[in-house]
Amino acid sequence: MKLVYTPDLKSCGSNTVWVRFPPAALSRSLRNKSGDWRNWLACLLWEQEVAGSNPVSPTIFMKPKFFKTITGQKIPLPIFFPDATRAVLKTLDSADIENTKTPGILVNTFHLNNFPGTSVIKEHDGIRNFMNWGGGVISDSGGFQVMSLAKTFKTKKSPVSDIGVNFKIPNTNKKILFTPKTSIDFQMVLKTDMVVVLDDFTDLDADLNKQRETVERTILWARECKKLFDKYKIKNKPYLLGVVQGGYNLELRKECTERLVEIGFDGLGYGGWPQNADKTFNYNIPKIIGENCPDNYLLYGLGVGKPHEIVKMVQMGWNIFDCVLPTRDARHKRLYVFNAKTIDDIDLSDDKFYSYYVPDKEIHSHDLSPISTACDCLLCTRYDRSYLHHLFQIGDMTAGRLATIHNLRFYSLLMEKLRPIYGSI
Ligand SMILES: [Zn+2]
Repeated sequence: MKLVYTPDLKSCGSNTVWVRFPPAALSRSLRNKSGDWRNWLACLLWEQEVAGSNPVSPTIFMKPKFFKTITGQKIPLPIFFPDATRAVLKTLDSADIENTKTPGILVNTFHLNNFPGTSVIKEHDGIRNFMNWGGGVISDSGGFQVMSLAKTFKTKKSPVSDIGVNFKIPNTNKKILFTPKTSIDFQMVLKTDMVVVLDDFTDLDADLNKQRETVERTILWARECKKLFDKYKIKNKPYLLGVVQGGYNLELRKECTERLVEIGFDGLGYGGWPQNADKTFNYNIPKIIGENCPDNYLLYGLGVGKPHEIVKMVQMGWNIFDCVLPTRDARHKRLYVFNAKTIDDIDLSDDKFYSYYVPDKEIHSHDLSPISTACDCLLCTRYDRSYLHHLFQIGDMTAGRLATIHNLRFYSLLMEKLRPIYGSI
């Protein structure tokens, strides 16, 4: 057993003291005691250690500074990986992505498992060689797509059981059983840097019973995925990420977090989009997850997000993000622009640090200025607003390519500017 603490251990605050992996039975019995069982146990061990009577050697868990790839790279945190769902960022090749200083990408397990499938990826010895991509790669579990597809077919019997998800591939008669093993095995074939466990999605309108059921299944599958993952005895293993479910129920989210930490992962993310009734981002969910896992955990904001949401999450200690927004928006004429005049002047403490540029009016065809003077991308350094407007007007795919390059550089610049903030928390 390890006693883990931060410098203000003496206060024994609930967020500063960690005892990792107590036996499950012990932690269950301690949880029934009044107060936080971690405080109770950590204070006890601390007192014994101070008295010199306990051989427990404390370990300080530090906040991670880097995302390590299985190829040996150390990418400084925080990071934003755009969604290359089917092993491509639409309109860009891998060299284009590199030139935007984007350090990594997210690929989708379900789609790549369907096409090109295991044999082709194996022939390339992983997704990196397939794409000739040298940066980081995260794979998702495929669960979100599987659940969404399965639930579109109205059947009497639920397509989701403890074994996995039964569903029919659209436009075919092919039936598939997608299990924790399907997900882990294929992610290991992809050879990504972070493998995500399969989870049971809590629907936004689920009642308490259904919320509880999805959390229990999420824990069951997380345990199964961990066992399967541990069987891979390979050098340079990827990170393994647990996924916290529980919908809007903060107590359930907390419990799910604690039980996943007991199983033991390299980091946690949340499942289900944390959204308030007015569609704004619900920060209470990432907050409660962050407060209930050890400091050395990677915290992954799956599907986040808008630039101001990322800033707020980084201030809360979250360090990995992915989202379709910059690439999808680019193809729909929506470009992100820092309001500062130069890269040095970008000030993230100002709430209105960015705005959108949408070249859809005639006036834009006469604008000879760059998209943004606070950007050093191909589009901003080589072409003007008038030319981009023209490319969109004639429907040339170069417009989508240049706009995507710009938006990706906006996000990589954003993360560069956030590193000092992350380092100071
Ligand atoms: Zn640019």
